[in-house]
Amino acid sequence: MALAPFTTFGIGGPADLLFHAKSSEELVEVVSIAKDLEIPYFLMGRGANLLIGDRGFRGLVIICEVAGIDFLDGNRVRVGSGVGIYPELTTAAVEKRLGGLHHFVGIPSTVGGAMWQNLHFLSPPPDRSRTVFIEEFVESACILSETGEIAVVDNSYFKFAYDYSILHDRNDIVLTVDFALDQESPQKLRQIMKENLDWRKNRHPDLIRFGSVGSIFKKIEGIGAGRLIDLCGLKGKIHGGAQIFDRHANIIINRGTATASDVLALINLTQATVAQEQGYELEPEITLVGEF
Ligand SMILES: Cc1cc2nc3c(=O)[nH]c(=O)nc-3n(C[C@H](O)[C@H](O)[C@H](O)COP(=O)(O)OP(=O)(O)OC[C@H]3O[C@@H](n4cnc5c(N)ncnc54)[C@H](O)[C@@H]3O)c2cc1C
Repeated sequence: MALAPFTTFGIGGPADLLFHAKSSEELVEVVSIAKDLEIPYFLMGRGANLLIGDRGFRGLVIICEVAGIDFLDGNRVRVGSGVGIYPELTTAAVEKRLGGLHHFVGIPSTVGGAMWQNLHFLSPPPDRSRTVFIEEFVESACILSETGEIAVVDNSYFKFAYDYSILHDRNDIVLTVDFALDQESPQKLRQIMKENLDWRKNRHPDLIRFGSVGSIFKKIEGIGAGRLIDLCGLKGKIHGGAQIFDRHANIIINRGTATASDVLALINLTQATVAQEQGYELEPEITLVGEF
């Protein structure tokens, strides 16, 4: 089964085996079976931060669809790791007059993917002066540890940083997360959500028309990867079915027929050009998965 439809890029060859894990129990069980049978496995959420190779993945791909949004006492909510931050969780929280996750409207991400990358976005207008991270709302999480135990861990366990959590370096799997949110007026929350959605609409490609995975390269403090790429005149550059987005040079879009090789060719070209002309090493922020 091709993996392309399970990614926001719309790119990716087949997995030998594919499983949709709808509950924590199913996720724990399928990982345990894969380990017992020594089948390589890869867990994905919305596939919004991945480039899957054209030859796909040899082994088992597990799509994390662990459901459940349970409001606890006070301002806390326990959420399954496969729940979408937007619209599912944001909408449910706003209905309960709870804010925090509303900053991330419009970003395709499961809760698990957001924990992996420490999902982030700019603070609300007018100043947009700081970056708001999902770690600010994470109280604790239930994980399947890489050694096979189910454990409840607190925020500090994840060692959150910019585009980083401990999940980059440990094979733990997030099952559920407890978020502690803030009481806010729904009108104020809806206003910020609208402003953030408008901001995205003006700067990001429309995912329905053009697949993408958001920013390709990690931020370069004080300059911006997109600006460096733009300075090299690469905006709009096409390779096969892939193109460097003409409104935001740190984004590559799928014009409909892009392969992973097309995207890789643009990544390599960009890295080489920026190194040669601007003297900066660009490091991909996205994860490459499978065979290319
Ligand atoms: C249009 C667009 C805009 C974007 N804007 C932003 C933005 O503003 N800010 C931002 O931070 N990102 C942004 N992104 C990137 C992307 O949305 C995030 O990185 C998101 O968190 C990825 O989530 P996912 O569920 O798709 O994870 P995937 O891409 O499917 O997986 C990413 C990683 O998370 C791991 N993972 C997934 N689930 C679990 C789990 N349950 N337990 C452990 N590990 C897990 C996977 O194994 C993989 O290594 C954007 C992407 C797009 C397409």
